[in-house]
Amino acid sequence: PGWYSERLNAPDTRIAVFTADKLMVHAGPAGSGGMHWHSSKDLPALVDGIDPVFLGIDTEGVNHFAVQAADTELEPASGMVALDLRSIALQGLVSDASLGLAAQARSLLQWHVRHRFCSNCGASTRPDDAGYKRVCGTCSGEHFPRTDPVAIIAITRGRSMLLGRSARFASGMYSTLAGFVEPGETAEDAARREVFEESGIVVGDVRYIMSQPWPFPANLMLGMAGEALSEAITIDPDELDDARWFSFDEVNAMGDGSHRDGLQLPPDISIAHHLIRQILDN
Ligand SMILES: [Zn+2]
Repeated sequence: PGWYSERLNAPDTRIAVFTADKLMVHAGPAGSGGMHWHSSKDLPALVDGIDPVFLGIDTEGVNHFAVQAADTELEPASGMVALDLRSIALQGLVSDASLGLAAQARSLLQWHVRHRFCSNCGASTRPDDAGYKRVCGTCSGEHFPRTDPVAIIAITRGRSMLLGRSARFASGMYSTLAGFVEPGETAEDAARREVFEESGIVVGDVRYIMSQPWPFPANLMLGMAGEALSEAITIDPDELDDARWFSFDEVNAMGDGSHRDGLQLPPDISIAHHLIRQILDN
């Protein structure tokens, strides 16, 4: 507790403020904005039972925290704007390092918002360990932030790639298939199962490529590449609007905005974009 309050109240400590799922940032065109950091002296009223969460200490020794404002429609100060993380990322308003901090903050705070009561006995819980744990006052149960693994995979067959689209995608956008890893399953098997369920394609070799936290609310995207053993597509209409084999040339055109039908890849803030690019570049 001494360690925590000392850092929280240090004069140069930087605190990010969330109002509902929106973060306070400096307004302005891409690249000119930046996070808006508060000090412990100018914080808004916080949600009851959710203390400031510790994000870390930077190379200059400055402590970083994040808080959840009680007012879900808190008015930004002059020159500031409250935006969701997706918009902040798409508009390039903050640096990559700040975006990482913002993702960490949002995941943690959203977990606190949703775990104020004990899942064992139903009594209220309180935050501990600088925000990395909640403890039940009645049964002493300890609860830890969750991370939900999602398998996402770029499937190829020769020089073609399997891409699909769901109804909630932007018009004309196609992406790699993905789904949550189920209990007791390897990430590789989850990828094979999801692809089979959604498209009917049987997947053989799978290799891990990269991962990305996706804090909406707490996913860890596990990016893989896989080889198809079959070719005939049967989509699951509950999951996908469409899935097709695209030639690498066509996928390249989708990536650089020159596709003849205006089809597109996901934006470069997504792991899908980087998975697809990596396969094309190799
Ligand atoms: Zn309990």
